[in-house]
Amino acid sequence: MDCAPERRPVVGRFAPTPSGKIHLGNVFSALMAWASVRSAGGKIILRIEDLDPRAQDQRVADDLMRDYEWLGLSWDEGPYYQSRRTDAYQEALETLGDRGLTYPCFCSRAELHAASAPHAADGTFVYQGTCRGLTPEQIAKKSKRRNPAIRLMVPDESSPLARITVVDRVYGTYSENLARDCGDFLIRRSDGVFAYQLAVVVDDGLMGVTEVVRGRDLLPSAARQTYLGGLLGFDRHEYSHVPLLMGPDGHRLSKRNLDTDVASLRDDGMDAKTIIGRLAEAVGIAELGESLTADEFARRFSWEDIRAHKSDVVVDENFFLK
Ligand code: GLU
Repeated sequence: MDCAPERRPVVGRFAPTPSGKIHLGNVFSALMAWASVRSAGGKIILRIEDLDPRAQDQRVADDLMRDYEWLGLSWDEGPYYQSRRTDAYQEALETLGDRGLTYPCFCSRAELHAASAPHAADGTFVYQGTCRGLTPEQIAKKSKRRNPAIRLMVPDESSPLARITVVDRVYGTYSENLARDCGDFLIRRSDGVFAYQLAVVVDDGLMGVTEVVRGRDLLPSAARQTYLGGLLGFDRHEYSHVPLLMGPDGHRLSKRNLDTDVASLRDDGMDAKTIIGRLAEAVGIAELGESLTADEFARRFSWEDIRAHKSDVVVDENFFLK
């Protein structure tokens, strides 16, 4: 497949899940997504990823947008809400189903734990295909007791189609054998909620996204998404995964290890330029102690610098004092 998005105008996206306040880690990846698009003269879309009913609080989404604006991160299109786009996901699900590529899965969480091979690269289980071969009678019987999830079949391990390679702009070549490293994956949950993998692929495809910039924890998803995008006939796009911010305990930065949500920092009297300056310094595009606006960050931004600073960034109590 052709992989030359340079010829298309650049379209990027912010794709936050409004499950809580936005913290410094979200800001870090949003800043790079924004700067990459702005420095290429492209367009950025805001898409609120609120498929999970627990993420459907409009106030949280409003706060999130206010925080982006306060930081100087503007968008050209949206907000789109995934919770209002389920028709598109349903259509994709049916397309895949009509081609015989999906099947209902009745496995409970406990069964998945018991029957799973070691973890895939992102900590999810490698599904062993337990429900792949169910007969229509078995499906009918099981459906009476439990609502099934829907899985997408991946090619057999020995098929050349099972190997998916993504060339990430920061981390380089990432390759997976889908059957071995992931297994048939969920595209709809048993509670009827469309899975992140399906929604993101459909949206990025339909919205004409040419580059995806996000935290490196989602790099393994890029293989699944590339495969699914190919099945649905979407062009490939560029991937740039970016380093994560880590708390002082070595775990990913979160409310549990350090309170760094934008609202708290603002309430503590921190201004947007100080926050952006510190994050810019962490990726080598500002001097220690420099303050930067989002626009200044975009003007200095280059993927070469991010490539040279791709280790995760430790954020501790002194992060803003250095
Ligand atoms: N909504 C996801 C998150 O907030 C990001 C999805 C993506 O960028 O593909 O982690």
